[in-house]
Amino acid sequence: MGTNGIKKPAVFLDKDGTIIFDKNYLKSPAQVKLYSYAAESINKLRAAGFKIIVVTNQSGIRRGMFTEKDLQDINEKFLFMLKKKGAKIDALYYCPHIDSDNCSCRKPKTDMVLQGAKDFNIDLSKSYTIGDSIRDYLLGFNMGGKGILILTGQGKKHQNNLAREKMKPFAVCRNLKQAVNFIVKDVKNN
Ligand SMILES: [Zn+2]
Repeated sequence: MGTNGIKKPAVFLDKDGTIIFDKNYLKSPAQVKLYSYAAESINKLRAAGFKIIVVTNQSGIRRGMFTEKDLQDINEKFLFMLKKKGAKIDALYYCPHIDSDNCSCRKPKTDMVLQGAKDFNIDLSKSYTIGDSIRDYLLGFNMGGKGILILTGQGKKHQNNLAREKMKPFAVCRNLKQAVNFIVKDVKNN
């Protein structure tokens, strides 16, 4: 038991528009609203042996729309609401930057998943990303795993822009629930 050197797979989940409703720079805990299937979807991934790590771009901080303290309050509420529904995530990482900061954490850059891989002994080649942005599935490829685009939140808008992307999503799914079902099947087929 515990850390025996065997690496685990993870699913790296986006937050806004994926687990909770997208509010276009959500800035207060009162705005946090889970999708009805969020908790059961997370539990299904955990039962399938995945670590669950949330990775979220929060450029609203750098843009001055809310503070890191606001974000901490939002994240606490988010984790509490999941916990109330019996779902637990292993970790949450966020990037506060904008593109021109040239950080190495803003998705689709990989610092947040690399941190997760280090903290939880994760095999990124067997891991997935799920999110409503092109950045989310590109992250999946950039980390050496598989990236899924979902159509909630900003997903439909991003789907319309896929033609101009060289890298396509590994799969496009209607929502988090469908993406989780897809992953569970994909693992069985491999
Ligand atoms: Zn960053």
